[in-house]
Amino acid sequence: MDYEFEPPATPAVPVHGGSKFPVRRIFCVGKNYADHIREMGGDAKKSSPVFFTKPADAIVMTGASIPYPQGTDDLHYEGELVVAIGNSGRDLTERHEAGALIFGTACGCDLTRRDLQAAAKKAGAPWDASKAFDHSAPVAPIGRWQDFSPDAFDGARLVTKVNDEIRQDAPLSAMIWTVPEIICALSALFELRAGDLIYTGTPAGVGPLNRGDRVEVEIGTLPALEFSIAE
Ligand code: MN
Repeated sequence: MDYEFEPPATPAVPVHGGSKFPVRRIFCVGKNYADHIREMGGDAKKSSPVFFTKPADAIVMTGASIPYPQGTDDLHYEGELVVAIGNSGRDLTERHEAGALIFGTACGCDLTRRDLQAAAKKAGAPWDASKAFDHSAPVAPIGRWQDFSPDAFDGARLVTKVNDEIRQDAPLSAMIWTVPEIICALSALFELRAGDLIYTGTPAGVGPLNRGDRVEVEIGTLPALEFSIAE
């Protein structure tokens, strides 16, 4: 039988050096840097990883101009390391098992409608409207794990700039939950599959974006992310 209408194209992220990574699901980690938990008024010691999701078609390529989203007056950037999953796994407990799932990593930005998130938190309501909106997941080309893991992670810092001004600057080593720990914890809740992306949380320094702003996220030697908010 024919489809009623043409199925939407599979969202895909360029892989550094050629080919495309088709996106299946996007998982995100909340509360993964102690200094960001404090700036949001939380207590790092009491926090466990919080997971939420975005739709696969929320991805935005580097170089894009993103329309200021509807329904908010407080759009925020959150520069993040993104992990791309290349193999299936569930109920993983060992670091090496988690490592075997990693296809590569990328610079990303978890765009957030902060005013809607604050309202959802206050009401004990779901976060979807604050996190899972259109164009909310900018991501740079993915660096393959074998090409970028040592250079990207040995003492690498996550740096977010807005209009060339540094707003976030933190070592990846400040993550509360390491990448293997995140993969193990997620795999206890969801079967991870090739095509999944994981946004691993943001350090302190989040803030608002206005029309015309240009955002850059850099991590070590990974391909940088750059996008702007349309006028
Ligand atoms: Mn985030």
